[in-house]
Amino acid sequence: MEILVEKSALPYSLTQEIIKKYPYSIISSYEDFKWEFKSYPELVSLGKKRLFIMNYKGKFFRKCPGTKNYFCCGYKIFHFAEGCPLDCTYCILQCYFNRPGIKLWGNLLEDGLRELEEVLKKHKEEKKVLRIGTGEFADSMALEPICKVSEKLINFWQEKDPLAVLELKTKVALPEEYYAKFKPDPRIIFAWSINTKKIVKEEEKKSATLKERLKSAKLAIKYGFTVAFHFDPIIFYEEAEKEYPEILEEILNNIPLDRIAWISLGTLRYPKELKEIAESRFSDTKIYAYEFIEGLDGKKRYFIDLRIKLYNSLAKIIKSVENQVAFYFCMEGERAWEEVLGKKIKASEDVAAILDEVAIRLCG
Ligand code: SF4
Repeated sequence: MEILVEKSALPYSLTQEIIKKYPYSIISSYEDFKWEFKSYPELVSLGKKRLFIMNYKGKFFRKCPGTKNYFCCGYKIFHFAEGCPLDCTYCILQCYFNRPGIKLWGNLLEDGLRELEEVLKKHKEEKKVLRIGTGEFADSMALEPICKVSEKLINFWQEKDPLAVLELKTKVALPEEYYAKFKPDPRIIFAWSINTKKIVKEEEKKSATLKERLKSAKLAIKYGFTVAFHFDPIIFYEEAEKEYPEILEEILNNIPLDRIAWISLGTLRYPKELKEIAESRFSDTKIYAYEFIEGLDGKKRYFIDLRIKLYNSLAKIIKSVENQVAFYFCMEGERAWEEVLGKKIKASEDVAAILDEVAIRLCG
């Protein structure tokens, strides 16, 4: 990984920690960085191998952007980076970048943790539980060998004792030594995006196999953490309605149910510009070849009947554990909630209430 450090990010401790271990170059600023003359898809690929360490001036603590007209779960984000070295064919981050590279905030330990501490303190005083994660604009763990941000956040959680759960969403597998260095803490949720073996192999380049992800989840539990799973994106193909339920069954048969915070479901959706970029980067991908409609949020998605059919392939298994594990949809409307999960959801707050109840339990 090529590391480029903004001059103004040099004094910060995370920057210093990284540049002590890795070779780097200094640049005057991210905005002034002159990049190679290549096509957009080539620049996206190039950007997977370059890390900018920057002096971030924006908000570290944010609301999940959600999407218009579908229910959102009220998740909050600790924004530590933008971009990802993994390479999923459906990744929407391929549509958004100004310079080819992953951005990491060098001032995170000084400015980011100060902002986070204030938010956590306020929530604790008001006795309001917070669900927060880092995996919205980046994979929570893919940069961990370089930056150790998740490790720092786990230690921060244990030191500050907030009324909050921290969800670390990833597609990489973590070794036993990673978990062994922390005290057990059910408020820390290691979460894996889950897909069928076919989709992992064909569409989630550079990420861990399904077997490795599940092994890693078991290790997280062994060391006293909570786990979560996100069936997202569920992708339609001929065997999908057979293979997604098999994976869900495998999880439920191998992971103690009381250690699963939640399981989310969401079918493939994407901004329309993504198709052309992804197809020129991944000539073998077939996921965009199906019929899509423009959803109420302007994103492409499967027609509601197909979405419900895919979700319904999981409904019987979900029903058998519905009192033990919280299932929810990411960005769906009333019909999916009612027809698949049998729940009358009228607003995003109803979804948030289901997950807050779990978070309160995990906070003890
Ligand atoms: S792991 Fe997530 S952030 Fe990384 S490439 Fe895949 S979809 Fe994008």
